[in-house]
Amino acid sequence: MSESQTVPAQAQTNNKILNGKEVSQALLSELKAELAQLKASGAQTPKLVVILVGEDPASQVYTKRKAKVAKEIGMDSELLVLPKDTSQEDLLQEIAKQNNDPKVHAILIQLPLPKHLDESTILNAVLPSKDVDGFHPVNLGRLLSGDTPPALPCTPAGIMKILDFYNVPISGKHAVIIGRSTIVGKPMGLLLLNANATVTYCHSRTENLPAICAQADILVAAVGRPEMVTADYIKPNAVVIDVGINRIDVPETSKSKLVGDVNFDSASKNASLITPVPGGVGPMTIATLMANTLALYKATV
Ligand code: NDP
Repeated sequence: MSESQTVPAQAQTNNKILNGKEVSQALLSELKAELAQLKASGAQTPKLVVILVGEDPASQVYTKRKAKVAKEIGMDSELLVLPKDTSQEDLLQEIAKQNNDPKVHAILIQLPLPKHLDESTILNAVLPSKDVDGFHPVNLGRLLSGDTPPALPCTPAGIMKILDFYNVPISGKHAVIIGRSTIVGKPMGLLLLNANATVTYCHSRTENLPAICAQADILVAAVGRPEMVTADYIKPNAVVIDVGINRIDVPETSKSKLVGDVNFDSASKNASLITPVPGGVGPMTIATLMANTLALYKATV
């Protein structure tokens, strides 16, 4: 998932900000330089294939943005758009074709898939060595066992890069994650656990959610509920990571805006550091996708 907008002016002047846009630009510059070196040496260019089934408007925006960023840094990329009624068999055949193409190093299946396709069967069909999202059970299993596969799930891996960039201490800290999806919440907890945090997962059945969150040194909100997390969820001086991307209507106008799962103004009162939306976690997800493509390429040479 991506955000093309810039960090809000209010956030730019706030020294509590964990500026994901800045971190992503630093990472993309590094990748661009490395790709240029590869090209100069005559080596093959790493290639990412993105497969989009159907016409979901948000997915169309995200896949185009991925292709644009790939082009900007000199990565080879191809967007395959398949009709929304593509059968499971035809999609599996397309994945097999990409799996067998030595010029392709990374394959991304854009989610969500149309309802008639079985998501886990499709994701499991991507070769683990080309699984750029790190969602294949082999790669998730490696993460669970404390190992580090070349491509870790992009959003949580991007968050780890933000924490690292700003030297946020993790070892021994209590990290609370709101959300247990396979895409964000679960791998986020594993990455923090592997970095020696003490991890608590919360979800829709968690009792006393604000009180549990208020014990966190690092709070990660990946809920999908606009601005749900307010100051009462946050321990004084906690680090707050807002994964949410929610589009809401602006009252009394015909406009809409992007907000996170955290109410920025309220949460900022207690947080020592906080990611804004837009300009926080979102830009890191795409930058990490590019880093993952290069990492998968390197694992083959
Ligand atoms: P999911 O809908 O898959 O998961 C949401 C999680 O939040 C679930 O575990 C759910 O619990 C939990 N939850 C829902 N309501 C509550 C509640 N009231 N109290 C506590 N827990 C609750 O979402 P994703 O993980 O895919 O995404 C989460 C958010 O992150 C969304 O806003 C999404 O748009 C955004 N996102 C942003 C990305 C980025 O690059 N910035 C990338 C991916 C996602 P349960 O399991 O019990 O249902």
